[in-house]
Amino acid sequence: MFDKILIARLGLSCAALAFFPAPALADDAAGVLRRAAAAMGEPKTIRYVTEGAGYTFGQAFTPGMPWPKITVHSQIRTINYDTASMREEITLSRAEPKGGGGYPLAGQQRNDQFVSGAYAWNVAGTNPVPGPRFVNDRVHQLWVTPHGVIRAAMRNKAIVQFQTKDGKSIAAVSFTEPGRFAATAFINEDYLVERVESRLPDAVLGEVTAVISFAEYRDVGAGVKFPARIRQSQGGFPTLDVVVKEVKPDAPAEITVPDAVAKATERVTADKVAESVWFVAGASHNSVAIEMKDHLVMVEAPLNDGRSAPVIAEVKKLAPGKPIRFVINSHSHFDHSGGVRTAVAEGATIVTQAGNKAYFEKAFATKNRINPDRLTKSGKKAKIRTVGDKLEMTDGTRTLEVHRIRNGGHNDTFLMVYLPKEKLLIEADAYTPLPPNAPPPATPNANNVNLVENIERLNLSVDRILPLHGRVVPLSDLYAAVGRKR
Ligand SMILES: [Zn+2]
Repeated sequence: MFDKILIARLGLSCAALAFFPAPALADDAAGVLRRAAAAMGEPKTIRYVTEGAGYTFGQAFTPGMPWPKITVHSQIRTINYDTASMREEITLSRAEPKGGGGYPLAGQQRNDQFVSGAYAWNVAGTNPVPGPRFVNDRVHQLWVTPHGVIRAAMRNKAIVQFQTKDGKSIAAVSFTEPGRFAATAFINEDYLVERVESRLPDAVLGEVTAVISFAEYRDVGAGVKFPARIRQSQGGFPTLDVVVKEVKPDAPAEITVPDAVAKATERVTADKVAESVWFVAGASHNSVAIEMKDHLVMVEAPLNDGRSAPVIAEVKKLAPGKPIRFVINSHSHFDHSGGVRTAVAEGATIVTQAGNKAYFEKAFATKNRINPDRLTKSGKKAKIRTVGDKLEMTDGTRTLEVHRIRNGGHNDTFLMVYLPKEKLLIEADAYTPLPPNAPPPATPNANNVNLVENIERLNLSVDRILPLHGRVVPLSDLYAAVGRKR
């Protein structure tokens, strides 16, 4: 009944608009989109260069706080709308000390990021590194550009509603790119896209809202108009605020999926490191499985369903018949907590630092309706056990100690796991081993120094470190990395 009333009211407002002479926008969605395409131009490819501020989505120091700021020295985007491909060459540096997100505190870092169709990858040096977890975000980024959103709306049976803002009419054109995102493009009286509001799946939040605004349109040649200012937010906080320095419509944009990316599969290997303890490694993120008397404990459910579901399947094979009763989450950064929803769907109790509880409960109660994930399909509710500074978990014979890593700059809800009998320490991001035989850095990494301080503060007797990035190493490697002998 409500729907009918709403439609009637919308119908009325459209009719009312059509009645007044000023706005030329009273048209159907296809008509508005045709006029927008005519006004903004229809480049098949485009290359543009920006600079300004960026923010690392998902990497807040404290859950619920803004994303940490980075300086975007240069962002060069090359888009091919015909092949649904995009290359982004980005040079950035961290602009604030806390939060991190994989970027070094000092110095610039260059990232080359690609998407084409259903594939995403990064290029480090000359090697393409498959990045299936980036596909959805990059597909979304590609199609919420000014020209991209017009094309996406045209092929997805968009609907239009007319609104009035500051005495001017705005056409709000809404559509869904199936399985990827839902968006509304706000088109002004000059038939320029002013703003795009969208919702897309997120491995932690279920679904997340993005708002992108475009301002100061200008002619950039070949009958194409492009904004000089782009601002974006995601999950309620800024993610991008840049000035467009250069635009080239119809620039060369040959982007092909490398063979290694097209053929890539998710790697899950389980290596026994002690009695009933396995290091479960992957291409970028690891987990650890510990067999207890009548259940399993898993440390870390990273990335998303695509990673954590095969990890869970592998872990269950290690101790047939035993359920994974607990999954310990190292910290709130999204790459490390992206599989926690998967763990909730599996029925496990999530062990996490107390500062994450409210944030996670809200996130895990949010359904992914655009592309339902395991948690949404399971309909399960999260069971969370919190850790303040320390939690001991035991089955009578084996004990696990979960400790908070204090006073670091990486994340406020930072946990490590210590197995006293086996003298093993499991940690993420506080220390990632350098390649074998690499010399220690001239200036020790602050996170490494902080980890050493915490190990010494707690008097932990550690033989080996099982890092959630990289390979298993003796404790002496950590000490060498901070310029100390052990
Ligand atoms: Zn982290």
